[in-house]
Amino acid sequence: MRIAIIGAGLAGLTAAYEIHQADPSVEVEVFEASDRIGGKLFTVPFESGPIDMGAEAYLAFRKDATEFFESLGLKDSLRAPSGLPSLLYAGGTLNPMPAHTAMGIPASGAGLEGLISKESIEAIDKESEREAIEWGEGDVSLGALVRERYGDDVVDRVVSALQGGVYSASSDDLGVRATLPELARTFDAMAAEGEKVTLSGAVNRILDQRAVRNAAHAEKIPGYKPQVFASFAGGYAEMYEALAEQSGATIHIDAFISQVTKTKGGYQLKGAEGTFDKVLFATPAPTTAMLIKSVVPDAVAPLKEIKLASSVVVGMKFDDAAGLPDNSGILVAMDETSVRAKAFTFSSKKWPHLGERGGAIVRASFGRFGDDAITRAEEDDLVDYALDDLQTITGFDGRAAGLSEIYVQRWFGGLPVYGPGHLETVATIRAAIDANPDIDVAGAWVAGVGVPAIIADARATAHRVLGA
Ligand SMILES: Cc1cc2nc3c(=O)[nH]c(=O)nc-3n(C[C@H](O)[C@H](O)[C@H](O)COP(=O)(O)OP(=O)(O)OC[C@H]3O[C@@H](n4cnc5c(N)ncnc54)[C@H](O)[C@@H]3O)c2cc1C
Repeated sequence: MRIAIIGAGLAGLTAAYEIHQADPSVEVEVFEASDRIGGKLFTVPFESGPIDMGAEAYLAFRKDATEFFESLGLKDSLRAPSGLPSLLYAGGTLNPMPAHTAMGIPASGAGLEGLISKESIEAIDKESEREAIEWGEGDVSLGALVRERYGDDVVDRVVSALQGGVYSASSDDLGVRATLPELARTFDAMAAEGEKVTLSGAVNRILDQRAVRNAAHAEKIPGYKPQVFASFAGGYAEMYEALAEQSGATIHIDAFISQVTKTKGGYQLKGAEGTFDKVLFATPAPTTAMLIKSVVPDAVAPLKEIKLASSVVVGMKFDDAAGLPDNSGILVAMDETSVRAKAFTFSSKKWPHLGERGGAIVRASFGRFGDDAITRAEEDDLVDYALDDLQTITGFDGRAAGLSEIYVQRWFGGLPVYGPGHLETVATIRAAIDANPDIDVAGAWVAGVGVPAIIADARATAHRVLGA
């Protein structure tokens, strides 16, 4: 059997690897449009050592992902973060990250004084006394929900700062079911149990459940502290290169596929030679819409509904770290007008293995869905914005600290926008695709944004493609 995989990002490479593990006799060819593998995973060889310019971490409580990396022989490469807290820049001041929240959604107004208005604090504390949220099987905008229940500044100052960092989008453009599945599940459970559905009630329930889980772990492991993230000593390149090497696949780079058609002998790809029995599209949704149209026409319209958000990362290495706050990073409130950056990661503070290189490594991030003009700004301007904003927020003078290395990475269409109803859209696409057993899809728009979710989905897809 010959299988073509379009896209050598995380999903495509994972699927190629998994197919090879399951059945080494299958011939897999991967076609990648760009001149390198990895997609949104991209480790850049700074002189001082490799630094990730796309994803830099994964959710370490996903044991399945850790086990997968171990099975690739990468156990010794996994690294834990320092655990230093992050800060929130809002109203022109640096604040501690609000505690007792689910993805930034507070359970109560306690501790939010100075960050949001008195009216919003009161609204949060009285929210459970209001009429119930009408929660059904549908989906709603996360931003609209929080605005209505708590107040605009809770979204503009807190919730969107967190979401903007992860999803490159304001909470207004994100759906609850795809981006906060734990909250959606809690609403579902409250509704099913006949309990009054409120936002603060749901967040309290989530936080209580987390506390119970953590206490259970602490009982088993003295001194237990939940480790949220992990990364790789040599950056994500260690992982995507291991995947490629162990996939047994022929990987073609600079191989842009522009069309897929079915012929009597199998599937043909414009931009590739030969025919294939099966095709796996591991490409972003808009590209998949373009490629899939002659083989699964019913999937095209829903695929086109999924939009992409662009962003830019400016990676900087400074000779001197003095004056950089002892924090993992800073998120910037959406309503902050004094700076352009949406977040800073103090990589050398967040990751001890990067700190050991000496000096300071900082990543500045810019751009959100609907406001991506900055993605096209001149490279020199982006570096200036990064240095100016860093100094405005922290007082750290990057120019005086010896800026020895810079890398600017633009992520045009870097992330899918998981808007309200996203999961339903994916289900519609899946139904159309399932009608053709030779065709399948994988990637962030199907699985969700995070590395563990994409790996789990791509592995399951590989088995489906094999017909197992
Ligand atoms: C700045 C940034 C930071 C992130 N940080 C994190 C993080 O810390 N932790 C985390 O878990 N996740 C993070 N993510 C998300 C995660 O990196 C992505 O969701 C994931 O890497 C996407 O993998 P994918 O295989 O779905 O898609 P992609 O990586 O987009 O792969 C798709 C591939 O298809 C190729 N392609 C497209 N069109 C064609 C064509 N016509 N022919 C051939 N090939 C084609 C592309 O060039 C690309 O290589 C981050 C994302 C970004 C952008």
